[in-house]
Parts: sequence; structure tokens; C-alpha cells
Amino acid sequence: MAPEVMSPTILLRGGTIIAFDGRAHRTLEDGVLAYRGDRILHVGTEYAAPVDRVIDTRGKLVIPGQISCHAHVSANEGHRPLVDGGRRDFMRSGFLSYIPTKGLGGRSMTAEADLVASIRYGIASLIRHGVTTAVAFNGEGGPDQAIVRLAGEMGIRLYFAPAVRAGSHYFDGDGRLCREWDEAAGLAALERAGAAIERLDGSHDGRVRGIVIVDEFYLSTSTLRRRAKALADRLGVNLTMHFCEQHYEFFECVRDTGKTPAELLADEGVLGPGVILAHSIYLSGSSYTGHNYVDDVGLIGRAGAAVAHSPLVFARRGTALDSFQRYLDAGITMAMGTDVYPMDLIEEMRTATMVGKIMDKNHEAATAAAVFAASNLGGAAALRRDDIGRLSAGAKADIVVLDFDNLQIGPVADPIRSLIHCANSSMIETVIVDGRTLMENGALLVCDERAVLAEARASCEAVWSSYGQFHFAGRSLAQDFPPALKRWGD
Ligand SMILES: [Zn+2]
Repeated sequence: MAPEVMSPTILLRGGTIIAFDGRAHRTLEDGVLAYRGDRILHVGTEYAAPVDRVIDTRGKLVIPGQISCHAHVSANEGHRPLVDGGRRDFMRSGFLSYIPTKGLGGRSMTAEADLVASIRYGIASLIRHGVTTAVAFNGEGGPDQAIVRLAGEMGIRLYFAPAVRAGSHYFDGDGRLCREWDEAAGLAALERAGAAIERLDGSHDGRVRGIVIVDEFYLSTSTLRRRAKALADRLGVNLTMHFCEQHYEFFECVRDTGKTPAELLADEGVLGPGVILAHSIYLSGSSYTGHNYVDDVGLIGRAGAAVAHSPLVFARRGTALDSFQRYLDAGITMAMGTDVYPMDLIEEMRTATMVGKIMDKNHEAATAAAVFAASNLGGAAALRRDDIGRLSAGAKADIVVLDFDNLQIGPVADPIRSLIHCANSSMIETVIVDGRTLMENGALLVCDERAVLAEARASCEAVWSSYGQFHFAGRSLAQDFPPALKRWGD
């Protein structure tokens, strides 16, 4: 007997289900959803066939498992201290404050991190926030690519491969940001990534999939990008990269090549379906570049590429996509990402709609429906899948149930607008991936949450207390990133 035949049929009954009718999401009041094994059997108003278990979802909102197309699955030891601070010479970039090493090949800020504990915390956070599929930017993925094992154990759907780059950032003895190129090392890393993808793709019941990851457009060469695209095409997997997430990247490319990064990618034949550009903030036509000579947005849209949009981390640094609605209208597949902490897609959706309206000075832009679709159907389209990001018969049983019967949600004029504008992730009660319940009654079933938190805090503490060994002039973390308030007694 096949395992799926032996699996019990489970019925969610009552409440509001955001169901997919084959074309779009629909609001289904007082609906039912039946699933068995890893697949949804039925979504509708009634289900007459026998079931093994009924879960009462009256007063709940049932939504598809959310998709983060860009996630640094960790405790984000390097990023957490940066809010309100960081170096002015990097303009509004956060990551340049902690990714470059001390001297070429030297110590990184996160040298003392406990990578396994960090990744475990990251996966736990994603699940707790209703993210059932994540594209992981995690360097090598911890010792022996521990991220794959941890995703297997903890049940999340993961896209991963070791990230490749054709160079390194480092700080010289005066703290200046420098770049050193090593294309040969990048090409060798790409070959290793290809072998890793062939090994991991489809593992853990198909939940773990490969993806070619070029760490940054900024640290890649034309040859590396072309070869990466060729590898992705040969293996039939996606290609993703950090793209136009800081000023230097855009303006140095324009100065060095006479082309915008988007033009360069198009010329190289890299831009196309299956390509996920993370961020894509600093483009021609953005008010943040002041460069208005090329239709970069149209170029990306016509090529059929996707953008992974993580507005929260950029808003914290005073910058934004210009604009969500313009990208969407240009035909770009808009997906959402959780980037760094707190890995909360509800917060990302809320920020996307608010900032999207502010950037366009238009309350009709970046609607709740549009940012919600980006977080599931958009992510699935970016990953070229039609079996996730939706609640419909035949789709994977990736399901999130939120408590919608509480004072903060209040009276519900529209469930999607209430989700985006009133809900928070602590209302998420149940998370199911591939038919396996990873969280129930608000508690993670796949790890000891207190232990995961304690280990993540220890990892952060080790990184933060050793900051002086990383800083070019030995400054402490508190000197570079002063606390919001002085301590009692100071
Ligand atoms: Zn990122």
C-alpha cells in the first residue's frame, strides 16, 4: 500500500479559507479543506467523503503556506545591531557594515557565530511566522551544509545551494571598503555548487530543492553570471542573486561598463524566466538613483524575471522600492522575501503595502490583495511551481491557520485587508508543510523553542562581544552602534 493511501484524511472545517479557483484567490466563508498525505484533496463549501479527523477552524483564517523567496536563515548576528546607525560612507546599505572581512581573507564580524544554532533559530522563526518555503542565502549553509539536514528534520521547504562569488569585500587598515577579484575561485565554487545541487535536489521527500545562488551581482563577473545561468538551465533550477541593493553597485556598474546592471544582465542573456533578483532597489528610473535614462523596470518585466521584495530591511535604512506598483504593472513577477530578522512575512506585507502607497503617493497602489498574492502565488511563479502558494485540490498541503477571533483583528470588513493591516504572526496557530504539522496551538512541534532561542542568543553574544577583534581600529560594538538608551546609572 502506498504511504499516501495509508495517511489519514484530515478536514479543516469552518472559518474563512483563502482558496484558489485555478485563476486567483477567492474568499471562501465557512469553507472546508480536506488533505491527505502531502496533498490537498478538496477545497469548497462541503466535503462528503469519509474523513479520519476534523479540525474546527471556525473563527480562523486559513491561508496558503507563505513563500519567502529571499531569506538569510540565521539569527542575523551581523545585522541586528545596525538600526539607526552604521557607516555613512555606505549610504544606506546595512550589509556592507558587517559582511566585508578585516583585511583580505581575514576575520569576519560573525567569526564566532554558532552556525548550526543560528540556522536552527532561522528555520524555527520562519515556521513560526507562517513561512513554509524559503530560498536560503546562507553561504555554505553551515558545517557540512547543515541547513539541508536541519530543513529535513524541521520540515520546512527549502531552496538552497552554496552561494558563489568572484571576489571578496574587505576593510583595509584604515577601514576603507575594498574589493579583490578571484574569478577562477568563483568558477570553481560554481562547479561545486552544481555538484551540491545534484546531490540535494529532491531530498527529504522533495522538500529540499536546488537553486543556483550568485551571492551578489556586485561581486560577480560577466563570465561567472553567464556560467551560472547556463548551469541553472542545464540542471533545470532557478538562479538568484542579490541585485542592486546598494548605491555603489549601480553607479560603479554604470561607470565601468556604460550600462545599468539590468542592461548588462539582459546583454549577457542572464535575465529571463526562473531568475529571481533579490531587492532590485537601485535601478534606472528609481528616485533613489536619480538616473532616468533606461527603462530597467520594463527590461526586467519583459524578460520574465522575478523580484524578491523585502521592504522591511530597506525601510529601516530609509530606502524603498520605487515602486511596487510600477514593477508589478511592468510585468515583473513580484515575490516576497523575509531577508534578515524578524523573518516575518506579515510585517513584510504590511510594510510593502504602506511603503508602496507612500512611494507612489497613491492610496490605490500596492494593494493588500497584491502584496498577499506576492507572498504566495508570486513566490510560486518565481520558483516556476504551480503546486505551492495556493489552497486548491492537487496542491501541496502547505497550510497556515491564524486565530481571527480576537480584539486586535476586531470586526472584519475584509479578511485580506484585516490580515495585512491588523494581524501579527503571534496569531498564527497552525503551520502544515507537505501534510506534516510543524506548529500546533501556537507551539512548534519540531524543536524545543526555548533551547533554540537560548542557543541563538549565545551565538549573537559571542559575535557581539568579539566585535573589537573584527573592527579595523578595535572599536567595540557599543562604540560603533551606540545603544538606544544609556544604561541605568550612566
Ligand atoms: Zn539578502
